[in-house]
Amino acid sequence: MSNEKNNLKYNVVIVGSGFSGIVAAGILADYNLSILLVDENIHLGGQLLRKIPVELGDYSSYRPEYIKRIGFRFVENIKNKKITIMNRACLVGVYPDHKIMIESERKEVLSVSYDMLLFTTGARERFLPFKGWNLPGVYSTGLVQVLMKSSGVLPAREMLIAGSGLFLFSVGYEFLKNKGKALTILEQTGMMDKAKMLPQLLHQFSKFNEGGKFLAKIYLSGVPVKYRRKIVEARGKDALEEVVVGKTDASGKLIVGTEKIYKTNALAVGYGFVPNIEGPQLAGCDLEFSDRKGGWTVKVNEKLETSVENILAAGEITGVGGALKSINEGKIAAFSILDKFEKISAEEYSRQLRKLTDERKHHLKFMDLFNSLYRIPSGALLDIPDDTVVCRCEDITMGDIKNGIDMGFTTSRGLKTAVRVSMGNCQGRTCGPIVFDLLNLLGKQEPGAIGPFHARPPLKPVSISALANYVE
Ligand SMILES: Cc1cc2nc3c(=O)[nH]c(=O)nc-3n(C[C@H](O)[C@H](O)[C@H](O)COP(=O)(O)OP(=O)(O)OC[C@H]3O[C@@H](n4cnc5c(N)ncnc54)[C@H](O)[C@@H]3O)c2cc1C
Repeated sequence: MSNEKNNLKYNVVIVGSGFSGIVAAGILADYNLSILLVDENIHLGGQLLRKIPVELGDYSSYRPEYIKRIGFRFVENIKNKKITIMNRACLVGVYPDHKIMIESERKEVLSVSYDMLLFTTGARERFLPFKGWNLPGVYSTGLVQVLMKSSGVLPAREMLIAGSGLFLFSVGYEFLKNKGKALTILEQTGMMDKAKMLPQLLHQFSKFNEGGKFLAKIYLSGVPVKYRRKIVEARGKDALEEVVVGKTDASGKLIVGTEKIYKTNALAVGYGFVPNIEGPQLAGCDLEFSDRKGGWTVKVNEKLETSVENILAAGEITGVGGALKSINEGKIAAFSILDKFEKISAEEYSRQLRKLTDERKHHLKFMDLFNSLYRIPSGALLDIPDDTVVCRCEDITMGDIKNGIDMGFTTSRGLKTAVRVSMGNCQGRTCGPIVFDLLNLLGKQEPGAIGPFHARPPLKPVSISALANYVE
């Protein structure tokens, strides 16, 4: 390995320092390999950890939940190992001949070579557009959590929380813990539907335990939790003033006449997570679509190898299944890489792989149930009014999308060319999953025929000054 900026070369480059990335890095670092761990975030630990500000007390004195305590231990573990860590470093390109391009600290663009590349880029939030979702005062649940965890800021004193998935309860819990007042939590899924998750209790005890703690705090604080509810509209002149909420049927369709108005200046809304597949997609890795995995994912074998030689993928990008799955897959990927470098014996590798694969089966089962339970139902998609903006970057409405589909543009690529959907700054990260669902539902195409939106370099916006400082 060289630390010269014009000759960056590593045995292993890991993109993403969430649970799977840091677990893999921690194992690999014990085997005399040069390792680069890259993350666009300023902290290690991915979406789950996000260190709280020093002024509020370092995390050592903070009492985080069980899974976070494990995560902080992983972070401490890798800090003492020989790993090159680049934070605020974003993967923006993947090229042939084992080369990637990284924008570092918004200052420079670096070309880095690797022998093996591991993608652990995690997931991002999923959205369901409604009228007024682009008003100031409407936040994503993830943003609310980031504000609380990383900046010690409550976006508002009082807030309505809505959408679907366990994450609503996690955000509600943290909001209450930080002395916020949650008006109500509105869940799209039916309460009885959750019983499907019960058989998983044994294998996901920590998750259920944590969920129980969240619910207890929410109920004991007197916060009403309402199921089978949806946001009909967010209203306000220049910013959010009120939210119209209605009951839904099992398909997610509004039951007309059940609407109720909540007066509030803040709404947090989220519908679960979708994998960040764009890096592997750019590398040419095969993708696969499955509702049970959370959408488009990177296709991997049981060793977590992708279809491209020397590139592996682990964690949420192979299927949204939570932290324990990400930890498990981080370990599998690390042992598969050690096997490739012949750093462990074939016997040791097959022993580790067998043990971890057995454990992984339970996580995959949980992933399956979880994503099936919280998927956005067809009635909710069909309910989006024609004048509602779906692609926020390009101001493309539901009506524009329907017109494009009616004209015969029934693939992601075709629709993008026809109506400019996903052509803006976020490159379809926000609207992509919903547009895909609409193409599937209204265009009546199979997932493989629709395809995901294409990924092109730069994967995320790069500043001109950083490009001017390109270091090859
Ligand atoms: C907004 C959000 C909040 C969440 N909060 C919780 C929570 O409170 N509790 C909980 O149990 N689970 C939470 N989750 C789920 C959690 O992410 C998983 O359970 C698990 O920890 C994922 O681990 P991972 O390593 O697969 O990915 P992640 O933790 O998502 O880590 C992926 C990392 O890759 C980095 N990355 C992505 N793209 C690039 C790129 N192009 N260049 C450089 N770096 C990149 C990201 O910055 C991130 O740090 C959250 C998920 C999201 C999306």
